[in-house]
Amino acid sequence: MRTVLITGASSGIGEACALQLAEEQNFRLLLCARRIEKLEELTNKIKTLNPNCEVHTFKLDVRNAEEVETTLGNLPAEWRKVDVLINNAGLSQGLDPIQDGDIGDWDRMIDTNVKGLLYVTKYVVPMMEGSEQAHIINLGSIAGKEVYPNGNVYCATKHAVDALNKAMRIDLLSKGIKVTAINPGMVETEFSEVRFHGDKERAKAVYHGLTPLNGQDIAEIVSFVLSRPKHVNINDLLVMPTVQA
Ligand code: NDP
Repeated sequence: MRTVLITGASSGIGEACALQLAEEQNFRLLLCARRIEKLEELTNKIKTLNPNCEVHTFKLDVRNAEEVETTLGNLPAEWRKVDVLINNAGLSQGLDPIQDGDIGDWDRMIDTNVKGLLYVTKYVVPMMEGSEQAHIINLGSIAGKEVYPNGNVYCATKHAVDALNKAMRIDLLSKGIKVTAINPGMVETEFSEVRFHGDKERAKAVYHGLTPLNGQDIAEIVSFVLSRPKHVNINDLLVMPTVQA
């Protein structure tokens, strides 16, 4: 039985990963995000899918280093060992040329996608001590491989995730901790609505003319990555909707 900690489990890819792993029966789930009520709804869905799945949810804003340290340090004793960390919490906000960018949006992206990922990783790695199947999965993006018009700061944060994924693998290989980046193209989740500050029409228009990926597509890849034998590490995967350029 592996214990999996998923950040940003309250919607989209994080939620889909939780449901996928719950169904597979051999994972215990530590789920966190800021919207605790969404995590409670998710727990109900998980219990319907697999009544035996052990789940512990907690509120966490990954941007706050002190909160990350204290919250993880105060988890119930039976939840203080982690085998798998899925660094999934993240967001994009704004899609404007750099001169029109909003500094608040920039800060939220950098603080969540880069600093938040670092804080969680720093405090979870010691919780992996003694695990025979330790694994960190980082949600990067096609935006961490390429730059697109007006993507500036979001692309920069995901390029940072790409670099950190490589750096973590080197730093942690002597501990036997696997490190994998999964880099999706467009996935239809709350992501687009968050990007456009709740403008549903603008959010929906992004998917016009193509079938985007969905959270389940990514969750199945996470499941595949976690099912490889101990000596096999998948470093980096790029997953695109078939017709996205
Ligand atoms: P969603 O908006 O559906 O989910 C994002 C999750 O991140 C939510 O659960 C949210 O929870 C959580 N989150 C955001 N800010 C914080 C914070 N400060 N502290 C803790 N949790 C936070 O989007 P996706 O599921 O699509 O995104 C998941 C990951 O995948 C992100 O890293 C994103 O960059 C990446 N990605 C997404 C793509 C897409 O097209 N959707 C493409 C490529 C990569 P809450 O608000 O409750 O805190």
